[in-house]
Amino acid sequence: GGWMHKTALDFEELQSILLNTPEAEQARESSQYYTSGPHLAGKNLSQALWTLEKWQGYGIESSIVDYDVYINYPRGHRLALLEKIDQKETADGRGNTEEDWAVAYEARLEENVLDGDKSSQLADRIPTFHGYSASGNVTAPYVFVNYGTYRDFEELQAANVSLEGKIALAKYGGVFRGLKVKRAQELGMVGTVIYTDPGDDGEVTEENGVATYPDGPAREPSSVQRGSVQFLSFAPGDPTTPGYPSKPGVPRQPIDHAIPHIPSIPISYEDALPLLKSLNGHGPEASSFNKYWRQGGLKYKGVKYNIGPSPESLLLNLVNEQEYVTTPLWNVIGVINGTLQDEVVVLGNHRDAWIAGGAGDPNSGSAALNEVIRSFGLALQLGWKPMRTIVFASWDGEEYGLIGSTEWVEEYLPWLSSSAVAYLNVDVGTNGPNFKLSAAPLLNQVVQETLKLVSSPNQTTPGQSVYQVWDKHISTMGSGSDFTAFQDFAGIPSIDMGFGSDSKSAVYHYHSNYDSFDWMERYGDPSFKYHATIAKVWALVAARLVETPVLQLNATEYSIGLEKYIDSVKQKAEDAGYGDKEDDRWAPLELSAAHFRFAATIHDATAAQLLYDYYNNDIPWWKPWKKVKLYLAIRAINTKYKFLERKFLYPEGLDGRPWFKHVVFAPGKWTGYAGATFPGIVEGIDEKSDDTVMKWIDIASKAIDAAADWLEE
Ligand code: GLU
Ligand code: CA
Ligand code: ZN
Ligand code: ZN
Repeated sequence: GGWMHKTALDFEELQSILLNTPEAEQARESSQYYTSGPHLAGKNLSQALWTLEKWQGYGIESSIVDYDVYINYPRGHRLALLEKIDQKETADGRGNTEEDWAVAYEARLEENVLDGDKSSQLADRIPTFHGYSASGNVTAPYVFVNYGTYRDFEELQAANVSLEGKIALAKYGGVFRGLKVKRAQELGMVGTVIYTDPGDDGEVTEENGVATYPDGPAREPSSVQRGSVQFLSFAPGDPTTPGYPSKPGVPRQPIDHAIPHIPSIPISYEDALPLLKSLNGHGPEASSFNKYWRQGGLKYKGVKYNIGPSPESLLLNLVNEQEYVTTPLWNVIGVINGTLQDEVVVLGNHRDAWIAGGAGDPNSGSAALNEVIRSFGLALQLGWKPMRTIVFASWDGEEYGLIGSTEWVEEYLPWLSSSAVAYLNVDVGTNGPNFKLSAAPLLNQVVQETLKLVSSPNQTTPGQSVYQVWDKHISTMGSGSDFTAFQDFAGIPSIDMGFGSDSKSAVYHYHSNYDSFDWMERYGDPSFKYHATIAKVWALVAARLVETPVLQLNATEYSIGLEKYIDSVKQKAEDAGYGDKEDDRWAPLELSAAHFRFAATIHDATAAQLLYDYYNNDIPWWKPWKKVKLYLAIRAINTKYKFLERKFLYPEGLDGRPWFKHVVFAPGKWTGYAGATFPGIVEGIDEKSDDTVMKWIDIASKAIDAAADWLEE
């Protein structure tokens, strides 16, 4: 217990409610509801209202916050392989005219309706398409570009493979799909087709004799990964309002640099097969092209993975028709006011999905969030009042580009900047049994400690916790989900977590009709125990952050992180021929990191001492000033913690993408999902610009010094 705020429940009691309330069966019911029909961004009002009522029913003050955003909906598409008919074969001898093309293959561009999968049977299921894709109708030769990463395109350029005027055929994987389209466009290509290669499905494949979904856990051959192709690395959110909220009537910016102008579509491996086979014998084979490229998983079906280009007699016709609209979308926001209203913890998950299902992405997280809220609601009924304020968010429009969360952060930036302590994101709550975590270093410790308290659904060793079966890997914050605006734009320390799959798990049909309730029940989490478990972890991390009198952030972890990132940027520079790691240019960074290490260590030690004093020094009632003094000291140390991450923001932002303000963390410019640390310096190295490297060493060391000064002040 403690005297900092009055509440009927002490921490132990709260913790036991949060550990015992989330239930697999209730999560299953939420999941069944969310996955019972389409809920694309801007088309899920009924689900927003259902969520709102549910949260209100749990006793949480909640409301809908809406924005008017620019997004697209699919109208039509076509992909056909066209073959020129040999002149000799034309009976009238008129030679090749436009009519002398035969359709060698017409792609289906549709996922199979399966007896064992109800989502796939819905009449109003959502066509396969790319969010923010450009409309267009192009006919051109095509080139297999491997994963279509920046480096893949470099390899193609180095080998003088002709790209201009061609259509790119790329595998999914490696980097965010929008960056594949971006690079293809920059190199003068006229369209992009992206398919899912079963070679990236791990061990559970048809090739290895595993039955395909729904009969078995291997990939359904017609499954298609939908997804956004916005350029992510420019800025997330509504592309017409970078940096400010998309409220009705606000001015709108041009979008050319933010979304593609060449058409793109996603296809299945079944539809890719004839296209790939037709490239056999044209151009070099991927496996001998360079040391990075490999044959894909369709080799057992006769694909040699030649690069092409296809000959002039073999063209692709790619048609993409999209309707662009400005339309409302709906975040559901719930609040529990704490005793301290200037210290706020935000928990969020997105609600919108590309498909009717979305049992994994995102609704395993949505179901878990409902369980978290139900648990806190129960604690409230029992008289609990939080010390700090808790905000819950069900975001809309994540799939198109993190829209709901980004617009909300942009709208409430002044309040969030002065109050937010942490943001806790769960996107896919579970699609497999392996706990995965990305975290800002300030939050490493609180999450790790919480994981030890939650029992794992995997009880191969009786009694084991999630912590014990976890691989202990913590990724840095990149992008690809709703934490991005919090971490990179507002400087709020964030985490992203969930249970994921591995190379031995049932294949997860990401952004496909088969990410369905039926798949989840059969393969993903049949008992729904992982749904309940992620809810417990989430609620408990939040509770520790909200209830511990001294904020559970750890600055020493940040300093350890910084030292690691400095080492890795030095290594990267050395590898790129920038002089060795002992070069003087790194001195400012190292000095500031040492300064920060010193300040952080003292700060954490002071914080620990204050927490000890709070719980262990019985202050006699006749010395009330001692309590006041301790209270003020705790508030002061918490304020230092609260603003620490903000000190790493550089107001002008990164070069060429000013929306991204964090000096230490950003999505990689050409990876999207994977994070870059010290992005400014890394980009300088990549661009071979000494000025840029020096500029960002200076900016980064000043930020680190300022953060250390802030702790010491
Ligand atoms: N999570 C979604 C995806 O990976 C959206 C990411 C984004 O557009 O930033 O496709
Ligand atoms: Ca905006
Ligand atoms: Zn998601
Ligand atoms: Zn998604």
